[in-house]
Amino acid sequence: MRPIQMVDLKQQYTKIKSEVDSAISEVLDSVAFINGPAVTQFTAALSAYTGSKHVIPCANGTDALQIALMALDLQPGDEVITPSFTYIATTEVVALLRLKPVFVEVDPKTFCIDPAALEAAITPRTKAIVPVHLYGQAAPMKEIMDIAKKHGLAVIEDNAQAIGSDYTFPDGTKKKTGSIGTIGATSFFPSKNLGCYGDGGAIFTDDDALATRLKMIANHGQSRRYYHELVGCNSRLDSLQAAVLNVKLKKLDEYILARQAAADYYDNAFRNHPKITTPYRASYSRHVFHQYTLVLEGVDRNGLNEFLATKSVPSMIYYPVPAHRQQMFAASGGNSYQLATTDWLTERVISLPMHTELDDEQLHMISSSVLEYVNKN
Ligand SMILES: *Cc1c(COP(=O)(O)O)cnc(C)c1O
Repeated sequence: MRPIQMVDLKQQYTKIKSEVDSAISEVLDSVAFINGPAVTQFTAALSAYTGSKHVIPCANGTDALQIALMALDLQPGDEVITPSFTYIATTEVVALLRLKPVFVEVDPKTFCIDPAALEAAITPRTKAIVPVHLYGQAAPMKEIMDIAKKHGLAVIEDNAQAIGSDYTFPDGTKKKTGSIGTIGATSFFPSKNLGCYGDGGAIFTDDDALATRLKMIANHGQSRRYYHELVGCNSRLDSLQAAVLNVKLKKLDEYILARQAAADYYDNAFRNHPKITTPYRASYSRHVFHQYTLVLEGVDRNGLNEFLATKSVPSMIYYPVPAHRQQMFAASGGNSYQLATTDWLTERVISLPMHTELDDEQLHMISSSVLEYVNKN
């Protein structure tokens, strides 16, 4: 059996090596390392894939979120509502810009922001909502967009974990996650569902004026070289990464199917187990399984994590500390939040290996090891 990894980038690369290597050589031969044709080509292909009118490539997913917030032109102290149960980048950029992150509860089934908690947290200073499509499961965008409209708020989708997922509205309209809100942000970190071989990210919007601002902010606030109208930053997707992404974007749907097949295997193995809750699959979207995350009841979760390691089966806790309990937010009152569901989940979640290269032998080894521990403890 091949060694089991959380994400098997090597095996995946082996299968696309000739295509990737020639795309990289092409960039090397052209020496167009910055804003080369590979970047233009990728941006157009991603716009066609997502249905987003404008795609602005940038250096990473954290920058994508930061630039999105900068484009909204908010004032210090303005409030931005985010879930606490997320990767730190979602909330960190809010604080970095001297805005106030307001942490709200997630739905224990979807792991995504709870619309009722979101609406209850709105104050006259609230300006934006950042829902996260956590683990590849779309957040309830219909409810979120309705609340945003009612209160005049911007919505920035953190789509770092869900590129390729879609959302079906009650009237039947289907949209890709990241192209629903005011602005979408995603990451091409190597382990993401569409990962490059370094850092990368992108911002999405259908709004022409916002697109102009986003492009300028990512490029030192200029639209004409050396004339800087806005305070911006320097955030680019380089041509080598775009070349890799051009190859991988064509395979994204196939990769999603491979992830879903692995998820189906796990679902069957753990079906109806009294101590194991498998990921909820909302009927309004297609789950793209960036992570396959179980919720355990009456099991020593950390004990399972250690037991699996002794069997060379990796597992991870995403995330061991929710945002509101991070030390970086202690001084601004993070600890004063009462987020019982978030704390409850934080103690019970465990993510199993999830990637495009898992075979049945590996899936059997992983699931039988989990069951061995859970059934005897
Ligand atoms: C990975 C990730 C990010 C940040 O992306 P980087 O490219 O690592 O900066 C932001 N939000 C979520 C939910 C993520 O998973």
